[in-house]
Amino acid sequence: MQAEIRSENKKPEAKKKFDVIIIGAGPAGYTASIYTSRAKRETLIISGILPGGQLMLTTEVENFPGFANGIMGPELMTTMRQQAERMGTTIIDDEVVNVDFKHRPFKILTYSEEYEADAVIIATGATPRKIGAKGEQEFSARGVSYCATCDGPFFKNQEIVVAGGGDSAMEEAIFLTKFANKVHVIHRKDTLRASKVMQDRAFENKKIQFHWNTVIEEIKGSQKVSQITVKDVTTNKVDTLEVGGLFVAIGHEPNTKLFQGQIEFDAQGYIALKNHTQTNVDGVFAAGDVHDHRYRQAITAAAFGCMAAIDVDKYLSERK
Ligand code: NAP
Repeated sequence: MQAEIRSENKKPEAKKKFDVIIIGAGPAGYTASIYTSRAKRETLIISGILPGGQLMLTTEVENFPGFANGIMGPELMTTMRQQAERMGTTIIDDEVVNVDFKHRPFKILTYSEEYEADAVIIATGATPRKIGAKGEQEFSARGVSYCATCDGPFFKNQEIVVAGGGDSAMEEAIFLTKFANKVHVIHRKDTLRASKVMQDRAFENKKIQFHWNTVIEEIKGSQKVSQITVKDVTTNKVDTLEVGGLFVAIGHEPNTKLFQGQIEFDAQGYIALKNHTQTNVDGVFAAGDVHDHRYRQAITAAAFGCMAAIDVDKYLSERK
């Protein structure tokens, strides 16, 4: 069951106008709010339907500095939320359904209220694409992962699968050979989409075995993943791989739909930044995976949140 981190923080009754509204409550959003609230900017976080973001679907986090023995993803996010609230951030667990960045103050409409703000930080993150195989959701965080950097070290001396044929899949497969005995790359075509240099590196790696024209049919196990059935789409032959995990690396979708027609995106659909964390609209900033398709880590999202908050504070000071 998904962890629940909603707090007692009540909806603002009369107050609908804030200095800054942060859309999204992952590491970027919470960190931004800690900084803006400490800078005495009245801050509202609208958390969306999954407060805490992707880390709510993770188990142990070993690479977030400050936790010598690691910390569970949901616990990390609950702690960040409590810290934001202690600094004075108002948090509402509602979903933004529309925004107006064309008029000042900016308007943000949720299912239940309309809010106004002088500055906005978009921290809505990105969602890893799912393969849609049977068992994928059931074994998520129990052997199915969407981040090799995050979870690779948990698969020492095991045999694992990587799904995908792009640069991410090659990068993850190569990285995972540091830990795993063997990495099976399952790709639906007979050629890779990845760049030549990444392909060559993967082909040279003796721990990687490629399965061409192959799709994942089912993920099986009891407590954790123990078997994956794959099908060759040219012959329809089904095979079972005895593996401990599956890394899905078939791309991400930035959560930007809400902002279409309001701000500029880059060629891959992520928010385009013009000047540090500033978007093309003066007063609208972005932080975390919604603009960053390179690093995608909790710590880098948090760092971008900090940067956006400092940029917002400067923007509001200069505006006055
Ligand atoms: P990507 O380039 O879009 O590749 C996605 C891969 O997943 C493709 O091989 C695609 O197969 C496969 N795929 C998509 N949907 C699938 C599904 N439902 N079932 C099975 N397979 C599916 O995504 P990415 O690899 O995450 O890369 C995103 C961008 O970041 C790219 O521009 C990439 O170059 C860049 N990047 C660069 C580096 C680097 O330079 N080191 C590292 C990571 C990412 P098809 O080929 O059949 O469509």
